Amino acid sequence: PSDGYQALPLVRAQLEAYGIEVRTAPTGQDAQLDVLGGAKLLWLETPSNPGLDVCDVRRLAEAAHARGALVAVDNTLATPLGQRPLELGADFAVASGTK
Ligand SMILES: *Cc1c(COP(=O)(O)O)cnc(C)c1O
Repeated sequence: PSDGYQALPLVRAQLEAYGIEVRTAPTGQDAQLDVLGGAKLLWLETPSNPGLDVCDVRRLAEAAHARGALVAVDNTLATPLGQRPLELGADFAVASGTK
């Protein structure tokens, strides 16, 4: 996400140092669809921190899988009580254990 958790630019820099191409898109309105071509992994953060924008995990997971990409969801803000990404088609669900 281009509007996600503040540490994401650091993660991007680390990935790019390994030669991995990183593309970003805003969380809202499923803008990730525009940057999926050739992707290996779609990383979602919904709701986003701090903007609380959301995206349609099921729709994006179907689109990513159709293109051969895996899908991870940062579920920190929703928590498993509010959203279950694996049930929506994601391959991975992660959350910060520090909150
Ligand atoms: C805080 C936060 C993280 C990072 O958590 P740490 O445990 O501090 O690494 C990741 N994603 C979101 C959405 C967060 O709010």
